Amino acid sequence: PKTHQGRIAFVTGAASGIGKAIATRLAAEGACVVVADLDLEKAQAAAAELGGTDVAIGVAANVADADGVQAAIDATLLAFGGIDLVVNNAGLSLSKPLLETTEKDWDLQHDVMAKGSFLVSKAAAKALIEQRMGGDVIYISSKNSVFAGPNNIAYSATKADQAHQVRLLAVELGEHGVRVNGINPDGVVRGSGIFAAGWGANRAATYGVKEEDLGQFYANRTILKREVVPENVADAVYVLTGPELSRTTGLHIPVDSGVAAA
Ligand code: NAD
Repeated sequence: PKTHQGRIAFVTGAASGIGKAIATRLAAEGACVVVADLDLEKAQAAAAELGGTDVAIGVAANVADADGVQAAIDATLLAFGGIDLVVNNAGLSLSKPLLETTEKDWDLQHDVMAKGSFLVSKAAAKALIEQRMGGDVIYISSKNSVFAGPNNIAYSATKADQAHQVRLLAVELGEHGVRVNGINPDGVVRGSGIFAAGWGANRAATYGVKEEDLGQFYANRTILKREVVPENVADAVYVLTGPELSRTTGLHIPVDSGVAAA
């Protein structure tokens, strides 16, 4: 049998980029997948690429809205009869220098990534604890949760918040057999909606390179000199939630071609 056969995965922000790659990988390993994203049609279209509604469904959920999150978890339980694996991936970036970062920017960034992942983890944890079958919670945090980059105080601060949620929840959910781990990607330009939505132009201006050269710029500053793509992050989710790392919790693994180690 496949490693994730029969497991039920709930992936936020899975209509695009890294989340979509994670949903695709988990489905390929046998999991049933719930694609949760802001827009119902996009979520359903991404789910349809994974197979019929017996293996993947799309749900509309703004992770910053507690009622919406609960409804999405309820829809998961209704469709597949349980939940085993949760990926907090939804995100956006409003990277700006400190003096240009507004209160609204700060609040939106934290609503979606810090509060959003808290709400998703909380609603999912209730079901995981009741099921008494263990499970996995993954946070797609960032290299920026640990290392300071230029012009992104609100984004990086909320990624650091997520990183601490990983440690706190690993402690709190461990007795229920739930592992909680994080992944710190960096420089995933190709296939990423947040780069396309303006972050790419922002980063290109910050680093003084052409936007079309940004992927190569990120690759060049790494140890491996290799561009990081969404599938690399999906591979890390697969490994962290698979059987081999059954004694690993509270860990963050970098998926950054080594830039954080350099
Ligand atoms: P993306 O824009 O392709 O994907 C983000 C998805 O989240 C989108 O589908 C978007 O609709 C969804 N989303 C946004 N706000 C939401 C909300 N309130 N509720 C539900 N869904 C919401 O970008 P990506 O690069 O794939 O980013 C995915 C995650 O990876 C983010 O958390 C991002 O911070 C993190 N990350 C990305 C990189 C990178 O280099 N691309 C590096 C480190 C961390």
